[in-house]
Amino acid sequence: MNILLGVLYYIGSVLFWLAAFGGVLEGNWVMVGISGSIGWFMWHMGRKRMAARKGIEIETSYTVRSTSDNKKKLKPIKNTSEGWLLDPGATFPIHLDIDKDIAEQVRKLIDWDEQEEDENEDLTILVAKHNIKCPEVLDFSDTYKPVYLSELENIKSQSDEWQEADEYDKDDLIAEFREQAEKALPISVPFTLWPLFECEPSDIEIDDALIEKYGGDVYVYYLEQYKYLGKVRKAKASTPMRRNYTKLKKAGLALQGDGIPADILLNKLTLEKLNKLSEKNGLETFSRKKDAISALSSIEGVGKQCGEYMSIRELFMLTEMPEIKSGNIEVKLLSDAMDYAEVVARLIERTYRASKAVASRMSYIDAEYMSGWEVECHGNCKKGKSLEKKYPLKKPPQIPAHMGCNCFLESVYKDD
Ligand SMILES: [Zn+2]
Repeated sequence: MNILLGVLYYIGSVLFWLAAFGGVLEGNWVMVGISGSIGWFMWHMGRKRMAARKGIEIETSYTVRSTSDNKKKLKPIKNTSEGWLLDPGATFPIHLDIDKDIAEQVRKLIDWDEQEEDENEDLTILVAKHNIKCPEVLDFSDTYKPVYLSELENIKSQSDEWQEADEYDKDDLIAEFREQAEKALPISVPFTLWPLFECEPSDIEIDDALIEKYGGDVYVYYLEQYKYLGKVRKAKASTPMRRNYTKLKKAGLALQGDGIPADILLNKLTLEKLNKLSEKNGLETFSRKKDAISALSSIEGVGKQCGEYMSIRELFMLTEMPEIKSGNIEVKLLSDAMDYAEVVARLIERTYRASKAVASRMSYIDAEYMSGWEVECHGNCKKGKSLEKKYPLKKPPQIPAHMGCNCFLESVYKDD
């Protein structure tokens, strides 16, 4: 459609020029003047309209940044003194101090067009496995970590409840305090930040070998489920949970069905069913579950027999990872490292996507109708709020305004 319009404009202008030329031959100078002006106007409009639609660089009174959201036109990552620049056309530079092929993998994982964005587990794993360093994330952390930590201490010291709380209550309270401390930051991001400030691993390589050994997705799921260690979990067939537990079992990190210790399986049965099992095995009946379990659990193959009273194939139990069991690694450090990597991943992804979207928005300038820019602030971002005013076309503010910024740059039109 756009091309058709452009062609029509060109044809129009050629006809007018011909008419003008005809005027020259007949000596009709008024016709030459009028036709010439209309022809020039049509040619100029056609060129401008086509260029604006395609989002390519054109020469007007204002030079437009040449960016496109077209993947084919995306500039390759660029080597700089700070590392690989992820998007050379973006409004907020992000560098990764890492090998080129890893930097390219990161960009592949964050460069997609859908609006929605959720936690990007593959990116988190990549960040954790290769200890991806991003100078912009480190700057961000250096700037806001002290603010956050002192605010958190402040909140704790002012809370009488905190002073008197036991460990369990503290777990509950701290979640609330973290939220408050994050709100006190002069910036805001559309996800939680506290692991960046509280969980930075002292040994950044702590999980590299484990991710390599078990595979990122299995490893991450294991940590997620670690709180259920030693407990029986029901994972129905064809559910994501079942698929994940099957992978854990394959990796030697979970037991399934009659692989689970018999006393634990027996404990899932009612006394009535336990007594049926007892009768079957030539034992007396019991009035207490505890006695029935202790008598039955010594019988060989009793776990399998439990399958007559419940579906045992859907039962799984997480086991201790050998590396953790040997006491070499503390699991809290592993999950902290993962939580930290997740925030780093989200900061990189959010900033990249926002920055690319703004650059793309800025490439569609219509100087004739637009008078400038304004910042649309999202969330509770004080930095974004302070930028909420109008800006001339030639001087847009830098948006994203910080790592993880969710603010956007909107056009202001002359007749607004
Ligand atoms: Zn912001």
